[in-house]
Amino acid sequence: MMLKINQDHCLGCGACVIVCPINQQICPEITGGNGPDTTDVIMLVENGIIKLFHPEKCNECLICNTTCPTKAIYHGDK
Ligand code: SF4
Ligand code: SF4
Repeated sequence: MMLKINQDHCLGCGACVIVCPINQQICPEITGGNGPDTTDVIMLVENGIIKLFHPEKCNECLICNTTCPTKAIYHGDK
Protein backbone atom coordinates (compact mmCIF):
# COMPACT_ATOMS: atom_id res chain seq x y z
CA MET A 1 0.00 0.00 0.00
CA MET A 2 1.19 3.46 -0.84
CA LEU A 3 0.46 6.76 0.83
CA LYS A 4 -1.89 8.78 -1.38
CA ILE A 5 -3.57 12.15 -1.41
CA ASN A 6 -6.88 13.08 -2.98
CA GLN A 7 -6.24 16.72 -3.84
CA ASP A 8 -9.94 17.29 -4.50
CA HIS A 9 -10.62 16.71 -0.80
CA CYS A 10 -7.54 18.29 0.79
CA LEU A 11 -8.18 21.57 2.65
CA GLY A 12 -4.48 22.36 3.04
CA CYS A 13 -4.91 22.52 6.81
CA GLY A 14 -1.60 20.81 7.56
CA ALA A 15 -2.96 18.65 10.39
CA CYS A 16 -1.58 15.47 8.82
CA VAL A 17 1.88 17.01 8.54
CA ILE A 18 1.97 17.85 12.25
CA VAL A 19 0.61 14.58 13.66
CA CYS A 20 2.79 12.26 11.57
CA PRO A 21 5.29 10.62 13.95
CA ILE A 22 7.85 10.17 11.20
CA ASN A 23 7.64 13.85 10.26
CA GLN A 24 8.08 14.71 13.95
CA GLN A 25 11.25 12.62 14.11
CA ILE A 26 12.65 14.21 10.96
CA CYS A 27 11.64 17.76 11.91
CA PRO A 28 10.84 18.15 15.66
CA GLU A 29 9.93 21.84 15.19
CA ILE A 30 6.63 20.92 13.57
CA THR A 31 5.19 19.81 16.92
CA GLY A 32 5.35 23.50 17.90
CA GLY A 33 3.10 24.35 14.97
CA ASN A 34 5.82 25.57 12.65
CA GLY A 35 5.81 24.23 9.15
CA PRO A 36 8.68 21.90 8.32
CA ASP A 37 11.55 23.77 6.71
CA THR A 38 12.82 20.68 4.98
CA THR A 39 11.51 18.48 2.22
CA ASP A 40 13.05 15.48 4.02
CA VAL A 41 9.62 14.99 5.63
CA ILE A 42 7.00 12.67 4.15
CA MET A 43 4.66 15.51 3.21
CA LEU A 44 4.11 19.19 3.79
CA VAL A 45 1.74 21.95 2.76
CA GLU A 46 3.07 24.40 0.20
CA ASN A 47 0.91 27.28 -1.06
CA GLY A 48 -2.14 25.68 0.52
CA ILE A 49 -1.58 22.35 -1.20
CA ILE A 50 -0.40 19.15 0.43
CA LYS A 51 2.55 17.57 -1.36
CA LEU A 52 4.15 14.18 -0.88
CA PHE A 53 7.94 14.21 -0.81
CA HIS A 54 8.91 10.90 0.79
CA PRO A 55 5.97 8.50 0.90
CA GLU A 56 8.49 5.65 1.14
CA LYS A 57 9.29 6.74 4.72
CA CYS A 58 5.68 6.10 5.81
CA ASN A 59 5.17 3.28 8.31
CA GLU A 60 1.42 3.11 7.64
CA CYS A 61 0.43 4.04 11.20
CA LEU A 62 -2.69 5.74 9.75
CA ILE A 63 -2.59 8.62 12.24
CA CYS A 64 -2.70 11.13 9.38
CA ASN A 65 -5.80 9.48 7.92
CA THR A 66 -7.49 9.39 11.32
CA THR A 67 -6.69 13.08 11.85
CA CYS A 68 -7.55 14.41 8.40
CA PRO A 69 -10.99 16.07 8.46
CA THR A 70 -11.79 14.90 4.93
CA LYS A 71 -9.70 11.66 4.78
CA ALA A 72 -7.91 13.17 1.80
CA ILE A 73 -4.72 11.36 2.86
CA TYR A 74 -5.01 7.61 2.75
CA HIS A 75 -3.35 4.38 1.71
CA GLY A 76 -4.16 2.77 -1.58
CA ASP A 77 -2.81 0.16 -3.93
CA LYS A 78 -1.99 2.48 -6.82
S1 SF4 B 1 0.46 6.81 7.96
FE1 SF4 B 1 2.49 7.45 7.25
S2 SF4 B 1 2.27 9.61 6.63
FE2 SF4 B 1 0.49 9.04 7.91
S3 SF4 B 1 1.02 9.64 10.00
FE3 SF4 B 1 1.63 7.48 9.77
S4 SF4 B 1 3.77 7.53 9.08
FE4 SF4 B 1 2.92 9.58 8.78
S1 SF4 C 1 -4.60 15.79 3.69
FE1 SF4 C 1 -6.17 16.25 5.24
S2 SF4 C 1 -5.06 16.76 7.15
FE2 SF4 C 1 -3.61 16.87 5.42
S3 SF4 C 1 -3.58 19.03 4.79
FE3 SF4 C 1 -5.11 17.97 3.51
S4 SF4 C 1 -7.06 18.21 4.61
FE4 SF4 C 1 -5.45 18.69 6.08
